[in-house]
Amino acid sequence: MHFAVTSRGDDTSNALQKKIIDYLQEFGLTHNEQDPEIVITVGGDGTLLHAFHHYYDRLEETSFVGVHTGHLGFYADWKPEEVEKLVIHIAKTPFQVVEYPLLEVVVRYHDDIHSERHLALNECTVKTMEGSLVCDIDIKGDKFETFRGDGLCISTPSGSTAYNKALGGAILHPSLASMQLSEMASINNRVYRTVGSPLILPQHHTCLLKPLNDVEMQITIDHKSMVNKSVKSIQCRVAEEKVKFARFRPFTFWKRVKESFVGE
Ligand code: NAP
Ligand code: MN
Repeated sequence: MHFAVTSRGDDTSNALQKKIIDYLQEFGLTHNEQDPEIVITVGGDGTLLHAFHHYYDRLEETSFVGVHTGHLGFYADWKPEEVEKLVIHIAKTPFQVVEYPLLEVVVRYHDDIHSERHLALNECTVKTMEGSLVCDIDIKGDKFETFRGDGLCISTPSGSTAYNKALGGAILHPSLASMQLSEMASINNRVYRTVGSPLILPQHHTCLLKPLNDVEMQITIDHKSMVNKSVKSIQCRVAEEKVKFARFRPFTFWKRVKESFVGE
């Protein structure tokens, strides 16, 4: 089996990365950064997000597993002291795979010539570089509301514990193939009105954001950020593709939520 190991880049993570590579090679596995079947990330959830985007073109063939070195570890749920155990699991047992839904984002421009397609593991956020974001929101082809405020966040179920949570969104179990639209400080008064609650949309329901003023837009996909003018629309829906995580032991989503946010 081909494997790759990525690191956050700090000394602790680099040392652990080297140790994992050595161990797995001793077990006869092939270190191959180009087309791995399993990618082990060492660092935090940010490291796993980076690896996801690095292996974006081979999601079908690749499974991820993360080790956390002093960071939260929502995706990266193995502890450094468990690395030997993890390596033996990888080398000796065919692993189970769990699949989580992703978000598809298509950005279109006023020139109508090009569009861009992205996949997010956590979320897409939309803000403006200057002034309020003003945009129409269509849901499933029908106008739902005009939003005016700081911005919007559209998250995956597994991303619901990240930025979405800070915006008062609900935590969604990743078995629900869905996306959640949450508001960032909407302006609500006699003149402007939005629904005010996060919305959870099922598969095949598209959510289309259409900016009403032609200002520079800041669009993020997970940790990546881009600034663009002349954005005509941002279309979000649950992607056809999924991300695969290698599972070697039961560690339920709700247990991870409890450990990350509630404590013992
Ligand atoms: P970061 O600023 O280091 O990430 C913020 C925190 O979110 C880190 O503690 C990170 O864990 C954690 N995190 C990432 N994905 C998570 C998930 N699915 N569930 C629970 N926690 C999660 O930046 P980053 O590491 O590059 O991560 C990018 C993400 O930061 C974005 O996708 C967005 O969700 C999040 N973010 C959150 C806010 C906010 O909460 N106000 C604002 C901006 C961005 P690690 O320390 O293990 O990396
Ligand atoms: Mn981080």
